[in-house]
Amino acid sequence: MKALAVFPSSREVRLIDQPEPMIAGPTEVKLRILEAGICGTDREITSFQYGTPPVNSPHLIIGHEALGEVIEVGSGVTGLAPGDLAVLTVRRPCPHDRCGPCRKGRQDFCITGDFTERGIKGAHGYMTEFVVDDERYVVKVPKELREVAVLIEPLTVAEKAAEQGRVLVQRLPGDLKNDPSSLSAVVLGAGPIGLLGAMKLVDGKWNTYVYSRGKADSPNVRIVSAMGARFVSSEEHPPADLVKMVGNISLVYEATGAAKISFDVLSVLGVNGVFLFTGVPGVMAPVEIDAEQIMRNLVLNNQVICGTVNAGRASFEEGVQDLVSFMRRFPAAVRALITARVALDDARDAVLSRGGIKSVITVA
Ligand SMILES: [Zn+2]
Ligand SMILES: [Zn+2]
Repeated sequence: MKALAVFPSSREVRLIDQPEPMIAGPTEVKLRILEAGICGTDREITSFQYGTPPVNSPHLIIGHEALGEVIEVGSGVTGLAPGDLAVLTVRRPCPHDRCGPCRKGRQDFCITGDFTERGIKGAHGYMTEFVVDDERYVVKVPKELREVAVLIEPLTVAEKAAEQGRVLVQRLPGDLKNDPSSLSAVVLGAGPIGLLGAMKLVDGKWNTYVYSRGKADSPNVRIVSAMGARFVSSEEHPPADLVKMVGNISLVYEATGAAKISFDVLSVLGVNGVFLFTGVPGVMAPVEIDAEQIMRNLVLNNQVICGTVNAGRASFEEGVQDLVSFMRRFPAAVRALITARVALDDARDAVLSRGGIKSVITVA
């Protein structure tokens, strides 16, 4: 079967021929990959900033955002059958007994760092024709989501953040943790992660603002309007203006990976506010921030800063439910996130180039 792989030692990215995986245990599932999304992580791996092949392999098959069709199941599989659509989770547990999170199926909170991630770290990914994995990493998707289900994995960034946000809101006294319709949230960034996060907030009844670079006539900004959120240009309005437009900022969902703008917005976070970081900045020169202002606000306004990475199975299941809801409320906005579909034969060029919102490799 064909697959797109990186060879870190020779710094090559190319289509390879790989043996087709076979079901080897009773709880395994074999999928024909239908589509695989491309994201910034793939671009970082194919520019050799990270990405680790499996032990004893010179190459890593990339891709961690996939939609597949189940074509074969082991004798012990109970929740999936041939013909089902499904998405795959990414992180697999570390082997250590002392890692409580991994032993409980919460490898997104692994304490040893020895987890693997399909398509990223120590395990082959999904930019290929067939994949086999254990049933517990395969999440069924309703047929009505066929054209957009490849967005579920990037949506799980927001789902995991929402899970963390729900825990953090529990600290507040009763009447403050109920109805978000009186509260305002700001999403930083209007890429796929930001736009999917904004959809989650709009769907959850938050007054949602997207604060990003970009012009009012860009496709990203049209998606912001189409879902019922409001766009504020960071090129035209500094964070102090943002507060005037939004009022008390109760929640910030960061999806830029840019430290400067994130900390500038942290300095205007509101009373009892929560700031959720999801972006991973590159290693760059130190940025200047107003640490005293930020520290003063954190204490005097009961604020919380929380970082979140990866997502457990429950976040994938919630992502499936939410995507069904998004497609009922603002289908055009969801569809508009996918701006290009290219064949697996052309995947290399698609991964190495930029542009659009979300490019997707069509495999079958
Ligand atoms: Zn991704
Ligand atoms: Zn672990």
